Amino acid sequence: MRKTYRFTCIVCPLGCSVEVEVEDGKVLRVRGHTCPRGKEWAVQEVVSPRRVVMTVLPVENGALPTVSVKTAEPVPKEKIPELMRFLAGLTVKAPVKIGDVVAEWEGIKIVATRGA
Ligand code: SF4
Repeated sequence: MRKTYRFTCIVCPLGCSVEVEVEDGKVLRVRGHTCPRGKEWAVQEVVSPRRVVMTVLPVENGALPTVSVKTAEPVPKEKIPELMRFLAGLTVKAPVKIGDVVAEWEGIKIVATRGA
């Protein structure tokens, strides 16, 4: 069955309207992108969508009670609930500096986005 997916590309502020035509799980055509990065993003959005995950973790003995963190790379959307369960069990020990890797999950680094 043929299906067309329509997206607003989020790779840069231009926000091109991109269409990806798919048949039986195979990408037939991509239209509307202005650059190769947008095409690559739109195809990935159809084939295997990914997101950078951001959250807040508690800090033990910190100047602040929590620290904001994010994954160092986008995570497959279907794995996000599993990642969130892992993150829910974490506490970070102070001191924490921005950019510190506070944990790792399935090879993906969890990075502090501020100090605490
Ligand atoms: S297709 Fe290219 S130019 Fe258009 S929004 Fe995406 S990244 Fe930006």
